Amino acid sequence: MWKVLTPKKIAFGENAAKEFEYPQRSLIITTTTPEIYNKWIEYMGIKNYEIYDRVTPDPAIETIEKIKNEYEGKNINAYIGLGGGSSMDVCKYLSKITKIPKILIPTTFGTGAEMTTYAVISFDHKKKLLQDEAFLADAAVVDPYFLAGTPYHIMRNSACDAAAQASEGYDSKAGNPFTRLFCKEAFDILEDAIINDKPNLLPYGAMLSGIGFGNSSTTLGHALSYVFSNEGVPHGESLSSCTTVAHKFNKSIFYDRFKKICQKLKFDQLKLKQPLDLAADVIMPDRGHLDNNPIEVTKQDIINCLDEIVNKNPLS
Ligand SMILES: [Zn+2]
Repeated sequence: MWKVLTPKKIAFGENAAKEFEYPQRSLIITTTTPEIYNKWIEYMGIKNYEIYDRVTPDPAIETIEKIKNEYEGKNINAYIGLGGGSSMDVCKYLSKITKIPKILIPTTFGTGAEMTTYAVISFDHKKKLLQDEAFLADAAVVDPYFLAGTPYHIMRNSACDAAAQASEGYDSKAGNPFTRLFCKEAFDILEDAIINDKPNLLPYGAMLSGIGFGNSSTTLGHALSYVFSNEGVPHGESLSSCTTVAHKFNKSIFYDRFKKICQKLKFDQLKLKQPLDLAADVIMPDRGHLDNNPIEVTKQDIINCLDEIVNKNPLS
């Protein structure tokens, strides 16, 4: 048996966020500042709302409990997560504990988080990846309107993440014909968006990637990337070389095309401070990614991949 979960309602394309009908008395949760979100809310035409704008990146469980207590008994009909992954993750967890529905609206596109059952929440200053069917959006609204004003490096890293997720998800052992359909279409669209400079296609591509990998998994590329993230390299940037080398190792049909995307986005070679052997020890226990990799991976394979990433620029 195969199972695929998607949000109950998906609204996407130009003007999606403008034309969507929002419930009265929604609580908007965002990480951004009033000069930005006031413009967004005006575009969306939301009236009669509350706003919580003190969410910080890598949200902690304490923040979620604070919001829950602050708005308890205030007749909130829905949460609207408006922003990057952090705003949406807070909404997902809040909705699970309060049973109030959530509408997820990404403004930086790449993670596909609006489509998935995943949330990253910090407990005791440690980020934890959680998965729960209750995290699925009641509605996801994907509108390229929000791309305007996104700094280039954020757009570039997000585009790389979306392409990595789509192609790793396609190769994942946890995939099925339905998820591969989404991953393949997502990759085609993301490639067109990046190679042919059509950024307005990125949100739709990232959304399809979210459905695809969110119902399968990412694999070796993501497993390799976290040792670079731990040393401060942004997620999407670390995937440029990591997923390229992983695709080469797996003989993925996406190897050449993914590499070309990263070359077009002009990513630099990655550096790693810790010795490769120690880094491999950190990566090996990541069974969630490695067990779903299409080919079995040994510690020596990981060391070889890391060596290629840091010593032989795989994007050259
Ligand atoms: Zn990712």
